[in-house]
Amino acid sequence: MLELHLKSPNELELRLVDSLPFPQGDEVKIKLLYAGICGSDLGVYRGKLAHATYPLRPGHELLGTVIEAGEQATFPLGTRVVILPNTFCGECEYCQAGKTNICPEKKSMGVNQDGGFSEEFIISSKFVFAIPDGLTDKRAVLIEPFAVVVHALKNVAINKGTRVAIVGSGNEGMLAAALSYHLGAQVTAIDINPNKLELVRSLGGDIRAVYPQEVEGESFEVVIEAAGTKQSVEQAFHLAGRGGAVVLIGLTAEAALPVTQIVRNEVTIYGSIIYNFPEDYQKTVDYLSNPAFNIEPIISRVLPLSDYQEAYNTALSGDYGKVIFKF
Ligand SMILES: [Zn+2]
Ligand SMILES: [Zn+2]
Repeated sequence: MLELHLKSPNELELRLVDSLPFPQGDEVKIKLLYAGICGSDLGVYRGKLAHATYPLRPGHELLGTVIEAGEQATFPLGTRVVILPNTFCGECEYCQAGKTNICPEKKSMGVNQDGGFSEEFIISSKFVFAIPDGLTDKRAVLIEPFAVVVHALKNVAINKGTRVAIVGSGNEGMLAAALSYHLGAQVTAIDINPNKLELVRSLGGDIRAVYPQEVEGESFEVVIEAAGTKQSVEQAFHLAGRGGAVVLIGLTAEAALPVTQIVRNEVTIYGSIIYNFPEDYQKTVDYLSNPAFNIEPIISRVLPLSDYQEAYNTALSGDYGKVIFKF
């Protein structure tokens, strides 16, 4: 079978490896249908993610079909599934409270354990999620990245007319714009790249998409930071209005905060990491199952695994939305 192999940063190759054994216990073997390239895959590729380990098989946004199942596995053959790419212990105080996303034992596929950019992979049923028949493959492959946004936005009330700013219009920013718009918000999406602004506009006619300098001095009820740079985080805080909230999804080591403004305006700050499983996946599927929810424009390019270098280069260019592999 073919798989991508990242020997060390920037050394990516497609290689032929032995076919996989039959799954054991509660494991299933999954044959890939589609897989998305994530911002974190690019970070791992370039050696920019401190907790990444090498060598590594990258990839964690995975949609496939169960083709073999171990004796204790409950998924019937042929079930279309996505996976939870972050493991958790199930026993610590956080897991017991349903917060599997902050389990200290968490390991991440495609970052510090092998991922799934391969024709097939084997995984415990514990990390497998069956998807409904009505959901198309292209919507289903967005479940994992979209669950990040669904989880983050649970912290704040976004209703008809809520003034929402999204700082950064990469994949997560675009997904946040799409969801906020779907919920009826007045959405302002911000990015420094004109291609991204064009893309985010295609998600909804009255989404306002602007450069950072165009919103200076404005204030919003909810600000979602999805760019993860010092400047973008600082801008997010300056955009939060009285009684407003800032939701941080992007990652950057540090930023300077306007403390007086935060205190005087009673701005609430939320940090949000991935999602809780399975409830956030279920909520995500509920949104994606609504045909009125416009999300497909987020997928910019679909390429075969053999075009992996072009796929990575396209994603790295920063000029496109989601790049996905078709198997
Ligand atoms: Zn991802
Ligand atoms: Zn735990």
